[in-house]
Parts: sequence; C-alpha cells; structure tokens
Amino acid sequence: PTAELQALDAAHHMHPFTANAELAKKGARVITRASGVTLTDSEGEEILDAMAGLWCVNIGYGRDELAEAAARQMRELPYYNTFFMSTHVPAIALADKLAELAPGDLNHVFFASGGSEANDTNIRLVRRYWELMGQPEKTVIISRKNAYHGTTMGGASLGGMQGMHAQGGMPIPDIVHINQPHWYLEGGDMDPEEFGLARARELEQKIDELGEGRVAAFIAEPIQGAGGVIVPPDSYWPEITRICAERDILLIVDEVITGFGRTGKWFGTQTYDLKPDIMTVAKGLSSGYAPIGGSIVSDKVAEVIGREEFAHGYTYSGHPVAAAVALENLRILEEEKIVDHVRDVAAPYLAEKWHQLADHPFVGETKIVGMMASLALTADKSVRKPFEAPAGTVGYMVRERCFANNLIMRHVGDRMVVSPPLVMTKADIDVLYERAVKSLDEGYARVK
Ligand code: PLP
Repeated sequence: PTAELQALDAAHHMHPFTANAELAKKGARVITRASGVTLTDSEGEEILDAMAGLWCVNIGYGRDELAEAAARQMRELPYYNTFFMSTHVPAIALADKLAELAPGDLNHVFFASGGSEANDTNIRLVRRYWELMGQPEKTVIISRKNAYHGTTMGGASLGGMQGMHAQGGMPIPDIVHINQPHWYLEGGDMDPEEFGLARARELEQKIDELGEGRVAAFIAEPIQGAGGVIVPPDSYWPEITRICAERDILLIVDEVITGFGRTGKWFGTQTYDLKPDIMTVAKGLSSGYAPIGGSIVSDKVAEVIGREEFAHGYTYSGHPVAAAVALENLRILEEEKIVDHVRDVAAPYLAEKWHQLADHPFVGETKIVGMMASLALTADKSVRKPFEAPAGTVGYMVRERCFANNLIMRHVGDRMVVSPPLVMTKADIDVLYERAVKSLDEGYARVK
C-alpha cells in the first residue's frame, strides 16, 4: 500500500535536495512504472513527464532494447575496469562512437558515472594540462553564478549555486564566479544584446584581474539548465568565443543537459558554434537507463595529458554494462533520427505552444531552444516585477499544481522549466500544454 511505502521511505531513505521532515509529513509520490513519456504511480495515476526524469530520458521510457543490451552485457562481462593497461569492448566501442559524434577534434573520452564526477575529472584535467605545459600556476577555473555543474565538492564548487556553497565550505580554492547572462532578472534597463555583451566581457575582466598566467579554464553550460533554462542573448556566446580564442585558457562546455539532441542538434556546442577543449557529457548519453558520464577531450589536451600517468580514475569508469546501454541508446537516437524529430517536429511545435503561454497574465516571458524551455512567473507583466513573497514561493506552488494535475514541471525560483523526452509527439505536447494552462490558471487564482 502506498501509505506503507511512504512511511518506510520517510523513515529510512534520505532524499536528494529534499527536506526529509517535510517529506515525512506529505509522503513522496511512489513511481512504479513508465512507458514512453508517461509515468505511473502506486495509485495507478498516469503522469506526463515533461522533465524526462532529471533532464535525461531523451529516448523515452520502456525501451526493451536497452534492457536487452544490459542483460546481454551482464551475462558476458558484468564488470571489468580499464585501469593498468586493460580494456574491454563496450568502453572501446563507446569511446569510438563518441569521438565520431562529438564535433571538431574532441576525440578522446575519460569515463565517469555521471556529470558531477566528469566535472571533477575536468578540474584535474585542466590543472594537470597546464602543469605539464610548464605553467603550474594556471590553476584558476572561472565559472558563473547560478551555473550547475554537479553536487560533489568539485562539481558544486564549479557550480554557482549559493545555497549549495553555503552548506559544506564551497567553493574549493581557485574556483571563481562571474555573473550569468540572465537578462530577465538582472538586465535592468539594458537592451538584452547589450547586456549579453556586458556579461560576456566580465570573463575578459576577470582574466585581466587575476592575470592570464593564473587562469586555467572557463566552464559553462551552453544554456543554463538547473539555473532555470536561461537562454543567453545572441550576443553572449560569440563574445565568449572571441575571448577564449584570444586568451590562453581552456574552454570546458558542460553538455550534461544540452547533449544528445536536446537543443535540436547533437550538441549545444553545435547550436552555438562553440570550440571547446573539453565537453562534459552524462544524462542523455544513456537516456538515464544506466549511470554514465564522461569528459570528451580535444586532441591537443589529450596528447599532453597522455605523456605521463594521469593519477585519476573511478572504479566504474567505462563500466561495461553502462557503456553497452549507452551504445544502444545512441544507436536508437541515430537510427530513429530522433535529433531530426526534435529539429523538424517536436521543438517547433513545443515552441508554438510554449510561446502561447506568454499571453497568460501570470507569465512574464517564455524562452525555448530545442526541447528545453522556461517561463517566468510574474506579479506584473509590464515591468519584470518579482513577487512580494520570498523568491520561489510562487514557483513551488505552481509546481505543486502541475503535480496535482499529473504534469511534471520543475520550478527554479519563480521560473517554470520543462525538458521533455525528445520523442514527444504533437499529441503529447497538446497534453503538456493543456495541463500547464490549467495549473497556471489555478496558481494565478491563488495569488490574485
Ligand atoms: N552538469 C550539468 C549541466 C547538470 O545539469 C548536471 C545535473 O543536473 C550535472 C553536471 C551533474 O550531473 P550528475 O547529476 O549526473 O552528477
């Protein structure tokens, strides 16, 4: 029975990013099955998952081929590592496939179990690179406020989430943050493009302030995901690209959310024409069916790192079962032309519906790239005005309305975000839209 499961859950299970005391009062929703874009809970309710789990189930739920691939691999070789001069076929095949898919000369993969671990690897990779280049003082990594790069001490330090930094002594040394290109909240009277340029130039100012000889790398998500699907003004990335090309620093592009079709191309790097030295991947790499991530590294960086032993590695780096599942996921993405489906069908239709939400009195702006979208809830459409209630109170309430209406939408402060499975049909998007409108209407009625 659901109540029994909820009681056991609250008694023994510590949930991520949750106040367990609150969970003990309310009871968590117990998800028991999923198929396509729909979850089923222990009461038999069907819920449209417009978040693809945690931005990861790109091919949708319930694909038997991935279960078969996992079972086959478990029977053949459930585990072996790639330390100390050994290797195995799934890791070889997956690294080879990623080198083929990743743009430019990103031809080398260091595997991890997820995005946080991969970003921890990146901290060590870039510092080691400069050490081997004879510039060991280049250790500082520049990131951005309100970025999300994971939850380990390294990942959360790279991230710019104040709430996380406040718990546990982060950031670790030599990680600094510049401002984000979030025009809606922080643009003031500036025109968005002028604001985008100004925010990009903060990178140059920070390099000058620290001294180029101290800066190892800049890290950023093409579009901030967990920060609220913050789509940068068009002026932002070209200016960052110019600065990275002119300055002797490495660029790490965190594609954990934007990778594998989410933006309508294979990688956000292609959507924004970026030239990363390292790309972080996870989530959509296996569509969340198995925990796997990695750092995809350029020829230039890999050559230097490979000169001597790189004293770094995880027991599950390139785990054979996870790698086999990821390979099968990539096969499906390719053979079923899911990235084309995003570009030609799902994203244009979601954009059409999503922008209709901008007419709602509760909505200040709508933003969308590919299959990731956000909208700002506002107390007054005309002036980008925040609510009087503490930030996030209204967003949380709207998220609860969505949940009650069997729609998974997430809130980031008072911004609502979606990141649906890429395989959504137009009919699925119609359901998403209807439930979103209903939830916004209900939320608005409560605030008015
Ligand atoms: N980087 C980005 C951009 C992410 O969105 C996330 C997770 O949401 C991570 C890194 C961390 O990945 P993981 O949760 O797999 O450790």
